[in-house]
Amino acid sequence: MRFPLALTMKIASHIVKHKVRKTPKFAMVLQLEPLHTCNLTCTGCGRIREYSTNLKDMVPLEKCLAVAMECDAPMVSICGGEPLIYPKIEELIAGLLEQGRVIYVCTNGVFMRKKMRDYLAAIYTAETEPTLKKLVAEKLISEKEADAIRNANDAARKKVVIRPTKWMYWNVHVDGLEFTHDLIVEREGVFKECVEAIKMAKICGYQVATNTTVYKETDVKELEDMFKYLSSLEVDGHTISPGYEYDAAKKDMVSRLGKQPEDFFLTRKMTRQKFAKIEEWGKMFTIFGTPVYQEFLAGKRELTCTAWAIPTYNVKGWKAPCYLMTDGHYDGYTEMLTKVTWDKYGVVDGVARDPRCENCMVHCGYDPSGALGTNYQRGDNWKNFAYNFGSKPKPYPASSELVKTAFNGVTIGKGHLAEAKAVLNSPRAAMNGAQAAFSRKEETNHNHEAHVGSHCGTSDTSERDELLAKISANKKAE
Ligand code: SF4
Ligand code: SF4
Repeated sequence: MRFPLALTMKIASHIVKHKVRKTPKFAMVLQLEPLHTCNLTCTGCGRIREYSTNLKDMVPLEKCLAVAMECDAPMVSICGGEPLIYPKIEELIAGLLEQGRVIYVCTNGVFMRKKMRDYLAAIYTAETEPTLKKLVAEKLISEKEADAIRNANDAARKKVVIRPTKWMYWNVHVDGLEFTHDLIVEREGVFKECVEAIKMAKICGYQVATNTTVYKETDVKELEDMFKYLSSLEVDGHTISPGYEYDAAKKDMVSRLGKQPEDFFLTRKMTRQKFAKIEEWGKMFTIFGTPVYQEFLAGKRELTCTAWAIPTYNVKGWKAPCYLMTDGHYDGYTEMLTKVTWDKYGVVDGVARDPRCENCMVHCGYDPSGALGTNYQRGDNWKNFAYNFGSKPKPYPASSELVKTAFNGVTIGKGHLAEAKAVLNSPRAAMNGAQAAFSRKEETNHNHEAHVGSHCGTSDTSERDELLAKISANKKAE
């Protein structure tokens, strides 16, 4: 089967239960953002302007568990910020598992290996030795770390830890191969760390998914290479979603300055071009999401937004109407369902009800639409069934060529930050203002949020677009 039977059945029975009860709106995935703090400062992080918070602004553990009960979504995507910074992340995962939820821990990957070492320390017995030896041999932990695991004290052995289970996935943010990914997260070495964390997770028996956002500058060939490489690491599934922007000022630029939307952001048309091969990828790789949503992304059909099915809860409450746009926060999920005028949002038959929705095709608005049959066409149920129950694509064959393709950045001496800074420090860059675009990093305080079952960077990409355009303009001019 493409996806584990237990998971598929849990989700299917949730849908059937609500269809039988004729529940008009219900939650499929809860996007839980327990905090907005992050250890990275990615260019274009969607939450950086919307929520400027720090560690003291967190959703208490009890509240996190209560909101999961309240909306009763079978799946919970724990995002943020970086959820592994949340001080009670282990207890949160344990509590959600006790509630019987499927959990996706959406992470930038940087702290994953530490959390898995904690797990190994807590469960260590002689039987753990082969795993430790393998991890050391593959340089995923050091000898010193292996010894620390072997000699863990009582506190470490009693600690609540994140254990592998069929009900949980690490969901690692990967936006491209090494050069691109490190550029986007603005830190060299993060791609390599993600790969090492994925390898370690697989050796320790965890399920691992990845999430990727596609932007205007995303190269489709690179996406394919990325899937091939991740598949060769035996990653269990991939979420891929188009980036989204709704800056009203850009709309204004179209009318006032006569610029074309595609000059500066990912339009529906461009999304469809980028996702033209999504169905083919769905055959080659374990892509999460229904085939109906894939058809929508490929431009073969329309869907109606069902943002209420993937609600977001964060420090301010239930965020409406969706993960991306904020027109208000509510104290309760039911309150949000009843008070929001949902008919104001989305795109119906190609016509945007709200101009901010015009170019949105993101999975948190439209993937549930495919599963819930909002724009049902004959054969859809069968398509979804066949996709879920069809055989799982085989891992792509590993090869040194593939590794070389994947590690195309700092590990081969092509450190983009040095390169970017050199370009930006040139007199020409000073003249055209590129330094100003880059200097945002200096003013950030590491307190952002992000993510989804897709992930972090699903929002405003204007800073990244601006930065890339200026770097590229400078290169051409030199
Ligand atoms: S996009 Fe994700 S990883 Fe990057 S700064 Fe934002 S929350 Fe952190
Ligand atoms: S179309 Fe997109 S931006 Fe608009 S409400 Fe739905 S998910 Fe949100």
